[in-house]
Amino acid sequence: MKVNKRSVSKISEVDFGDLGFGRYYTDHMIVKKYKDKAWQETEIIPYGDFPVSPANITLHYGQSIFEGMKAFRGVDGIVRLFRPEKNIHRLNYSAERIAIPLMPDEKKTLEELMELVKMDQEFTPGHMGSSLYIRPFIFAMDPALGVKIADTYRYMVIMTPVDAYYGKNLKTLSIYATKNYTRAALGGTGHVKASANYAQSLYAAKEAQEKGYQQILWLDYKEHKYIDEVGTMNMMFVIDDTLITPSLKQGTILPGITRESVLHLARDLGWKVEERRISLQEIIDASESCKLQDCFGTGTAATIAPVGRIGYDDGKDIIINKEEVGPYAQKIYDELLGIQYGKLKDKYGWTVEIPKQS
Ligand SMILES: *Cc1c(COP(=O)(O)O)cnc(C)c1O
Repeated sequence: MKVNKRSVSKISEVDFGDLGFGRYYTDHMIVKKYKDKAWQETEIIPYGDFPVSPANITLHYGQSIFEGMKAFRGVDGIVRLFRPEKNIHRLNYSAERIAIPLMPDEKKTLEELMELVKMDQEFTPGHMGSSLYIRPFIFAMDPALGVKIADTYRYMVIMTPVDAYYGKNLKTLSIYATKNYTRAALGGTGHVKASANYAQSLYAAKEAQEKGYQQILWLDYKEHKYIDEVGTMNMMFVIDDTLITPSLKQGTILPGITRESVLHLARDLGWKVEERRISLQEIIDASESCKLQDCFGTGTAATIAPVGRIGYDDGKDIIINKEEVGPYAQKIYDELLGIQYGKLKDKYGWTVEIPKQS
């Protein structure tokens, strides 16, 4: 790996009191090119713009994938990644489906990414809920308007210090279950982190926002009856003391690393857990019989996002826990963030410490 450092850090420009999400970027980024049928040497270079051909194939046809991971500054000052090998592995899983050449060595890819985090770790904020958001991505680079699998690609990693996605204090979200649009169908790309999944979701999200909701709750493509996910996070419901989440079997939802971790924690807490299809009607019925105890989304960006209101059928609402944070969401939030911020013992070996810069 080649390293070309910035001479002066930009860190003094960062307002750590008000980071937002994606407002500031760290000093360096990773760039790795694919050409002549091979991935070339990885480079760490100063963060910055780069020239792109107007005929760039990604601009036209969206042959592009990404990952999202976080580094957390613990209460002990140490910076930790959370299950990062899972993200690198999923990057290759997504690459395969979008016909992007796989990264040859996942272990080395992670080591190089960790070197970048080590170099720019001072950008990791320290307050609870904040983190250094890490965005690896791969996109086609060919200047070529014919639709085809590209011959050249770029893998990059950029990093941004962020506040919690939905604001500094844990509060509930409102989501709208649309029956007019579909996120993913059988045989499609709903199970991988393809950029195109997001492009096609924006219009529906805009409609939901106009109705007064923050996000879309996607239902299954066939009947618009069963819960899929929210599009940035997987969904969990607690009904009659059982944590229920849509199973991955349909192949239309993203296999979230937060989802998997939460299910693990829930089982260890002795909760009953079911991975299965769950219909919107089951949630409505549970709410009406006072058995709907909690609802929250899980994802790296959002961490644990409690849901207070689910809209459906133009004007109807399911209200959960009076739109206050529910006890199950709060417990999982405390457990998960406790491990991520080094407050609780990491008995699963999920965190990876970043060595201090020498
Ligand atoms: C990234 C993502 C999630 C959350 O996955 P994590 O691994 O928990 O971050 C959920 N749904 C979609 C569509 C995603 O792209």
